[in-house]
Amino acid sequence: MLATDLINLASLIDDAKCFELIRHHRWPNGVRCVKCCGGSVARYGRDDTQRHRQRYRCKDCDARFDDLSGTVLAGHHQPLRVWVLCLYFMGLNLSNTQIAKELGLNEDDAHAMATHLREGRCRRLKGAPGRGALEKEKPPILGLILRGGQVVLHMLDNVKQVTIKPIIDRCVAKGALIYTDEYNIYDRRPAWGYKHNTVCHGRGEYARDEDGDGHCEVHVNTMEGFWSLLRSWLRPHRGISQEKLPIYLAFFQFVHNARERGKALPGALVATLVA
Ligand SMILES: [Zn+2]
Repeated sequence: MLATDLINLASLIDDAKCFELIRHHRWPNGVRCVKCCGGSVARYGRDDTQRHRQRYRCKDCDARFDDLSGTVLAGHHQPLRVWVLCLYFMGLNLSNTQIAKELGLNEDDAHAMATHLREGRCRRLKGAPGRGALEKEKPPILGLILRGGQVVLHMLDNVKQVTIKPIIDRCVAKGALIYTDEYNIYDRRPAWGYKHNTVCHGRGEYARDEDGDGHCEVHVNTMEGFWSLLRSWLRPHRGISQEKLPIYLAFFQFVHNARERGKALPGALVATLVA
């Protein structure tokens, strides 16, 4: 075996820096008590096994906690740098098998870590993963994308208007112009307070120049392009159960949007776990 085979990325990364990253995102304005939220906190030694993991004591309520208390990263035996790298590789869309190889883990461990991170992040952002219509092979997914910008994805229990309206209300400003395909579920959008334009794929129409300026502004190509991106993103994770699909969608949505905002992935991903 070559010596280089023994080097994995985790061995090149500094645990101290990873804990700094956690503290920076968790307490951007200084450490606060995890119990009473007070800002009067004293350092209280280091963790016995992870020497960069700082412990604290709250001067108000006497609570003891540390850098990871109350986060999904607490209570695991892998070094923090392995968790942070695992998260980063997930952001780059490596499969669990590839992550295991890169980090020198066995596949079961890598799978458990990736699952734990996906679910932890998903809970923080959206509440518990929703119950899908498990009996169906291909669940309906609603996608909303701002041209050249952020995306929102939702797996739907059904394609009724009562299911879709609250999602659109939450994500789209009233009066905004929405382009869709001609699927009739969207028919009520004018009544819901949105302007509305439709491309009729059924008529072989994919873009239309409505105001005659030579620019085909009525199209849904942004979202169509996104669907093909999503299909290739999901490909390495063969056989995702329908129950887990919303978690993968939430993760993909997050990574896409972090990149749209020009954020570097490791920091953005860590921030959602601990902020
Ligand atoms: Zn306290």
